Amino acid sequence: MSAKYWSTLIFATSVACAGTPKHETAHWSYEGATGPAHWAELDQSFRTCESGAEQTPIDFPSGVTPGLVPGLRFEYRPSSLTIVNNGHTVQANYDPGSRLELGGETYELVQLHFHAHSEHSVAGKTYPLELHLVHRSAQDKLAVVAVFIEQGGENAALASLFAHLPKTEGEPTSVKRVAIDASKFLPEQRWAYRYRGSLTTPPCTEGVEWTVLSVPVTALSAQIQAFTALYPNDYRPTQPQHDRTITGAHFGYEGEQGPEHWGEEAPGWGLCSAGKQQSPIDVPLSAKPTVPADLQVRYKPAPLSIVNNGHTVEVEYPTGSEIEIAGTKYALAQFHFHAHSEHTIAGKSYPLELHLVHRTADNALAVLGVMIEEGAENAALAPVFQNMPASVGPAREVSGATIDAAKLLPATLSMWRYDGSLTTPPCSEHVKWHVLATPIQASHAQIERFTQLYRTDARPVQPLGERSFY
Ligand SMILES: [Zn+2]
Ligand SMILES: [Zn+2]
Repeated sequence: MSAKYWSTLIFATSVACAGTPKHETAHWSYEGATGPAHWAELDQSFRTCESGAEQTPIDFPSGVTPGLVPGLRFEYRPSSLTIVNNGHTVQANYDPGSRLELGGETYELVQLHFHAHSEHSVAGKTYPLELHLVHRSAQDKLAVVAVFIEQGGENAALASLFAHLPKTEGEPTSVKRVAIDASKFLPEQRWAYRYRGSLTTPPCTEGVEWTVLSVPVTALSAQIQAFTALYPNDYRPTQPQHDRTITGAHFGYEGEQGPEHWGEEAPGWGLCSAGKQQSPIDVPLSAKPTVPADLQVRYKPAPLSIVNNGHTVEVEYPTGSEIEIAGTKYALAQFHFHAHSEHTIAGKSYPLELHLVHRTADNALAVLGVMIEEGAENAALAPVFQNMPASVGPAREVSGATIDAAKLLPATLSMWRYDGSLTTPPCSEHVKWHVLATPIQASHAQIERFTQLYRTDARPVQPLGERSFY
């Protein structure tokens, strides 16, 4: 069976972002009475366009960081060029044999097409074009990979495609002796936003897996204009996110998302691999702890508000408790645990390490690290260990329970001080670390309350480098 036959077959049976068979359903467009605001009224089969709660496109809010997608593999091969202007966009049907692995499923690349301007946006920002690579699984599940195209250098990979855009609507035509290679349409950095959405054209069918790559590729202004001359606005406006989760950057403590990969996981996490002042560290035997004269601790009891955030269990502290370092006030914001300890003392680690995180009004950070060894039950921490949320969720206040951070510190405030970083992405530096030399105690059962949730959430020690203690 020839490749050409398959292309035609795929096109004919394809439910894609564009390419609705016009003889069966109503005419739709991108403006006026048949535009996106009216799609649902045009045809019974288009009702999801309005009633659906998981519609595409969406805007990605600035709070979501895109990240590497575990298990995402592109196995694309070159394809002959079969191209069609279908009245809604220009689409290239792809030869069989190019695959996408995503979420443990295998999809076949069936076609690709463009929208102007981009359908998705990032914190309100759109790009001149958005490329959609449409894939289908053997079970007819759809997965679309979107690539933003911005104006810049020439896009050699897309040149042959842009050079053969059919000026008028018609049937797919095979362009002799011209090939395209979708593997070259992708940006080098594959950071992405993922979410469940829909087709962006009628009938707006839901259940589509969206992977929107955050780094744009470039094309010459003339290349972009070759498309926009035909379709200046074939984009659907962004739809409500509703209660959908946008999956972005992730970090873990082992495997593909483990500490040695954090630096590549997401834009802005580069310090995790390239930083020179990273935490934790091993405190060398030669470093003598001191009781700093310029440090004051003013902690007050507070109602217990606790959260399992997927990386640790954290107790949120209300305003009113602070430390003062050389005249600068840092408010206690939260404390959390690591198992085992992140810092080590002359190579020795402890079952847990408590981090009390403080920040100034302009977000400078100071952390007190307290080692927890196995021993007597810790009465001050009892309400925390008793109320650790078993599953990830928002912070909740435990009615009637209070916590007093002042009682979490050892009697002697002897410590090592050094300049380090957050021990989790984005691994930001200029964090004033205070590692207390005297451990506190917790019972075996208390420690287990935490390690049953997080067996290991400790970043390995980082090189001390040029740094010294003060
Ligand atoms: Zn599309
Ligand atoms: Zn920590």
